[in-house]
Amino acid sequence: MIVSTPIYASLPKASPVPGGVARVPLASWSADSLPPQAWWGERRLLVKVEDGQWVALVGLPLDTATGSHTLRLGGLTDKNSIDFVVADKYYPAQHIRLKDNSKVEISTADLARVNSETAKIQDLKKHWRDAGQTDTQFVLPADGKLSGRFGLRRYFNGQARAPHAGFDIAVPRGSAVRANAAGIVLDVGDYFFNGKTVFVDHGNGLLSMYCHLDRIDVAVGQTVDKQQTLGLSGMTGRATGPHLHWSVILNGAMVDPELFINHSASKR
Ligand SMILES: [Zn+2]
Repeated sequence: MIVSTPIYASLPKASPVPGGVARVPLASWSADSLPPQAWWGERRLLVKVEDGQWVALVGLPLDTATGSHTLRLGGLTDKNSIDFVVADKYYPAQHIRLKDNSKVEISTADLARVNSETAKIQDLKKHWRDAGQTDTQFVLPADGKLSGRFGLRRYFNGQARAPHAGFDIAVPRGSAVRANAAGIVLDVGDYFFNGKTVFVDHGNGLLSMYCHLDRIDVAVGQTVDKQQTLGLSGMTGRATGPHLHWSVILNGAMVDPELFINHSASKR
């Protein structure tokens, strides 16, 4: 009997929808060649060899238009483009009541802070560091129950706000928050909405972000191992209770962290 291996057995799972990851085979490149450079618009893409073939992993922002998109391959002598298709996805709504209305109706003073933090986060998301290998098979960064899926269309005290661009894990204050993969601490900060936050750079445009921490135990530039403790969970920033908000960023796009986790592991 012939047992066929799935073409893309490894993570992240293919999910070519807004907020997901498209896997685009780069069939014209030989697997033993140097890594091809693949671009989507101005964003450089993570490429990996899987099952003897180069594949580009394209992080798709939640506001990606459905339909056909084009990826460019850039080399010194070879240039071509490959189309891929983004399908629609429905994300449910979530209504949240916050006692502290100052985190919903932002005062003029707070707005200046929020705007400068938003700009800083946008810059961090674009970070690129060349790395030989990028581990795209993540471990859950905390031991707890899933309390908020990625992509929920959020309403705070009845008002529409940005969709939920991460994955929430309910954990008591003071629980260990661990790196989902090895990397380098890109930034630490204390944000109006995200509270105490750690960004980890996994290389080649793949980043992770851990929010609402009670305490941060790492410093910028520090190398961290997979599962190394980054700090302790809490509810700093805009949070209704202690939990870890975990985001994954690929080529500048916030994508669904569940795609990087084995299914069995996400069903806790
Ligand atoms: Zn969250």
